[in-house]
Formats: sequence, structure tokens, C-alpha cells
Amino acid sequence: MYYLGIDLGGTNIAVGVVSEDGTIINSCTTPTLSNRNFQEIIKDMANLSLKLLEDSNISLEYVASIGIGSPGVCNSDTGVIEYSNNLKLLNVPIKYELQRYINLPIYLENDANCAAYAESLVGAAKDYKSSITVTLGTGVGGGIIIDNKIVTGAFNRGGEIGHHIINVNGIECSCGNKGCWEAYASATALIRETKNVIKNFPNSKINELSQNNLDNITAKIVFDAADCGDDIAINILDNYYRYIGIGIANIINILEPMAVIIGGGISAQKDKLIIPVKKYIKEYIYDGNLKSEIKVAKLGNDAGIIGAALLGKKIKF
Ligand SMILES: [Zn+2]
Repeated sequence: MYYLGIDLGGTNIAVGVVSEDGTIINSCTTPTLSNRNFQEIIKDMANLSLKLLEDSNISLEYVASIGIGSPGVCNSDTGVIEYSNNLKLLNVPIKYELQRYINLPIYLENDANCAAYAESLVGAAKDYKSSITVTLGTGVGGGIIIDNKIVTGAFNRGGEIGHHIINVNGIECSCGNKGCWEAYASATALIRETKNVIKNFPNSKINELSQNNLDNITAKIVFDAADCGDDIAINILDNYYRYIGIGIANIINILEPMAVIIGGGISAQKDKLIIPVKKYIKEYIYDGNLKSEIKVAKLGNDAGIIGAALLGKKIKF
């Protein structure tokens, strides 16, 4: 059998047809155009899914289920997106609406939880019964897997790791609170800090690589400048690794999963990221004895589709 996975994002809707072993056979995307009313978005999801199956020569009878990963608070029991600030959705009965077009079992889960589930089943955490995947990107997403199951909390609002507060009255976060881990450990935070610092260091390699234009600064430029031996970039990154380490140490102090998986664009740095972050985790965990594995994610942007698809296949590989 096959499984359809839909990754409903703020910019694009991505749909993939996934095999029993968690491999994406074929996929496609369409713009979300999130300012539309939700019925139109869901209609596009249905049309895109049916077209993908047709293009892949797979008839509906060979599809076991559809899984949807969405940002925000998702009620997997009722199939309702209760709240999403970046998609501007409130109490959308997405399962019911999509089933009007495609009559298959439909599963709904938060998108970061889907990514964590995929890493847990077929990715970097597949050898571990408990794992936490953190995604360092525009924001900081998180998903908690314990005993091979997604932990969403009693009322579907749990697992918001990016919004645990590490600095009272700290920097304002996208959620409206101050001092959230996301405001220090996201790629956005790294870029913001870099802009602040290099104003005072006009001779930094970062200035050269960004052609002296603050708007050109990306996370990659900071890493590239550090690779060139630029002390300013090295210091900025050391501070950044410390913040990543503090957040992961907090997670380990509370849950101590067998593995913590780091995903998102930043994770492309692999050992250059993992080694200093581990040093700071050891500094901040309770007894300094780090037992949990710290690894980079394996599935990249595919994790959302794979995890959503495999919601319909609730067994461990
Ligand atoms: Zn926050």
C-alpha cells in the first residue's frame, strides 16, 4: 500500500506519495496562498493529491490513508486545526472537508511533530525509542517522541520546545512572549545578532562576504566567514552554539530522550555544529554526564511529508 503525506506550509502545500518503507515515490507542490478562505486551500490539497496519484499511476484503492502536517494547534482526534497564527486558521475541520473530496482515512498532526515522527521512524533517530527533534530555521520547531509515539500533551499544545523561555524579559519572540529559546537559537536569531555585532566591526569577513550590505547576511555567510578564520564570526557562532546548547540541556534535564536530533538549514554544518553544541550541553545539564546522542537530522525537507504520510502506519519499522 501507499500513503499520502501533505505538508501544509505558510508558502507551499507539498504532497508526496510514500511507500511502506517511508520512501517518497513522487511529490509535487502548489502555492498555499494562505490569505484565501480555507475551503479553497483544502480543495487545492485534494486536487493536488489526486493529480499526483494519477501522474504516479497509482489508483486510489492502493492508498491506505492521507496524513496532514499543519503548523499550529492540531487536534488529531477530531481532525480540526484549532489555531494557526501563520496560516490564520481558527477551528478548521480539515479532516471533514478533505474527506468530502477523497474518501480515505485522514490523519492530522502538527508539522514539527510530523518531522520528528519521520526522523524517529526512518531517519536519524530510527534506532531510538525516544527522541526529540528540534528544527532550527526561521523559527525553532520541536517534536517529542516517547516509546515511538508522538507526545502532543493532554490538550494538543505540548511540544512547543521553541517557546520555552530562557531569558526573562529577553528578546521578543514571534509568539509575543519575551526570551523564548526561538529568539536565540533560530537562524533568524543568528542573523539578527550578526547584524548587531558587525556594526561595530566593519572589517569583519562577514562584511566582505555580504558586500557591506546588512540585508545580504545569511546564516551561511556567518559560517563561511568563521571557516575563513574570522574572529568576529567565530565569536558570534560560539555565542549561538551556547544558546542552542542551553535549550537542549533544558530538554535533557526534563525528559532525557535517547537522542536529540537537530534539523533545519543550520544542521547542514554537521560536526561543526554538533561538537561545540555538545560541549555546551555538557556544561548546562544537571550532572554534566551527557548520555543522550546528539545527531543531525537525516531527512531534510522531506521529513514533513514522510512523517505526515506515516501517521497512517502506526507501527515501528
Ligand atoms: Zn515564543
